[in-house]
Amino acid sequence: MKAILQSMRATSDNKSGMNSPADGYRQEGKTTVATNGQLRAVLLFGGPGCGKGTQGTVLAGLPSICHLAMGDIFRALDKQSDIGREFLSYSTKGLLVPDELTVRVWQQHVQNRIASGDIVADYHTMLLDGIPRTTDQVSLMEPYIDVQLILHLAIHDENVLIERLKGRALKGNRPDDANEDVIRERLRVYEESTAPVLKSYDPSRVVEVDADQAPLAVLRDIADQMARVLPRSI
Ligand code: ADP
Repeated sequence: MKAILQSMRATSDNKSGMNSPADGYRQEGKTTVATNGQLRAVLLFGGPGCGKGTQGTVLAGLPSICHLAMGDIFRALDKQSDIGREFLSYSTKGLLVPDELTVRVWQQHVQNRIASGDIVADYHTMLLDGIPRTTDQVSLMEPYIDVQLILHLAIHDENVLIERLKGRALKGNRPDDANEDVIRERLRVYEESTAPVLKSYDPSRVVEVDADQAPLAVLRDIADQMARVLPRSI
């Protein structure tokens, strides 16, 4: 059994009036969290506009992959809610949402989907896109995920990125892509806060994929790497 499942059970057990967590659990604010068991995960890692979302959406078509893009999870929040407003106050400036809030929103999303049967812990591999995005998020998420592989989608030409992101703004619901200053700020935040995340993992689990290639070639390279480490059912 996995941490998030156990965390859900422990949370409902707590409603029975127990004051202290059962063996194997610890208290984190109002939630009781399991101290063992994790969801299997692959990280799609790279800066804004590197193609994580495009690749993640294609791979999400595989039955045992669950693609979880943190930006999508945030954008799906009710914009009038407190958390929805807080998200916009950061994202429209090109800034990251604070770590604790981000991981709490991610965990709640995953718990809801486990509860509805949409994520089956022993069957699905999480394909995480845009989380963890700081070294503090790496630590906060450690109890929940067993990271098998980090796919670093590396792009070398910043101008290509900026043109890509501006093009994406024309198509979608992305105010943070429309303004070049906001884009440059996101690239700066990536270099400062996100790039160091790569160093948190065992180098043997980190693979660089050349994301300057055409999307199909990037997909082929990603598929090769995933087939190498994931269960045969994928
Ligand atoms: P991109 O990869 O183009 O930056 P995302 O859709 O991943 O876009 O994220 C959009 C915004 O959502 C980010 O600029 C940030 O404000 C917020 N966000 C997404 N993921 C995280 C995260 N892991 N930590 C903090 N903020 C995040």
